[in-house]
Amino acid sequence: MIDLVIDGTRALAPRIAEFTLRAASGGLLPTFSAGAHVEVETAAGWRAYSLLDVPLSPWMYRIAVELREEGTGGSFWMHRRSIGERLVAREPRSDFPLPDRTGACLLIAGGIGIAPILCMARVLARYGDRFDLHYVGVDSASMAYRSEVQALGGHVSIDGGDPGRGMALDTLLADPTPDRRLLACGPARLIDIVLGTARRMGWSQRNVQHQSFASVHAIDVPPAAGRSV
Ligand SMILES: Cc1cc2nc3c(=O)[nH]c(=O)nc-3n(C[C@H](O)[C@H](O)[C@H](O)COP(=O)(O)OP(=O)(O)OC[C@H]3O[C@@H](n4cnc5c(N)ncnc54)[C@H](O)[C@@H]3O)c2cc1C
Repeated sequence: MIDLVIDGTRALAPRIAEFTLRAASGGLLPTFSAGAHVEVETAAGWRAYSLLDVPLSPWMYRIAVELREEGTGGSFWMHRRSIGERLVAREPRSDFPLPDRTGACLLIAGGIGIAPILCMARVLARYGDRFDLHYVGVDSASMAYRSEVQALGGHVSIDGGDPGRGMALDTLLADPTPDRRLLACGPARLIDIVLGTARRMGWSQRNVQHQSFASVHAIDVPPAAGRSV
């Protein structure tokens, strides 16, 4: 367990708040790799939040929490937290790692699924690795980090709630070469469509990894080495 203190908060969008967290002890935090998340104890139980930055020795963690009004209270509880308050978290865990640095990565994010994907894109950019980044949301008010995505050369689109509308998936996924990796994170509906298209286009299971925030109760099962189609 890690005792954390909220060091900063900011509104990224009307229903998305960012939290900067430091160790209550004042020391370094456990390291993690891109795609990892921490589980935070909320009044509604443990909730997973993806970590945004990958420094070698983290003094801070940064997470972004979307308020889910239809949810069971975890995100609502998080949105009521303020600077100076303490949180308890489990050590970072990665069910959604970046593959070995070979070939090019196609990164697809829907909604707050941008959190682990942005972290991955920054790591790939830092090492000069090739990647394409596509970020879709229901509307601009529900999207965080749009300018960060654009600064990395990523594409931002709006689908109005219809995951088939925002991105030209048939075109994006048309070239499943053996050295190309697909990583997708977002709501279950988008992930289903991405995976269905990938299958249809002939992507190998080995080259596809995904994470859906809808599978929140997966945090109670043992970690996998990365989920595939
Ligand atoms: C590995 C992992 C990483 C996650 N990272 C983040 C993150 O970085 N930021 C974040 O805001 N949330 C993230 N989540 C979701 C988060 O853990 C909570 O589920 C969310 O904050 C809602 O909590 P709740 O108690 O309000 O509702 P819950 O009862 O947890 O969820 C209500 C319903 O909404 C679904 N759901 C939850 N979040 C989403 C979503 N964003 N889009 C679509 N459906 C959703 C749930 O599966 C459930 O069916 C992550 C989940 C997992 C499993």
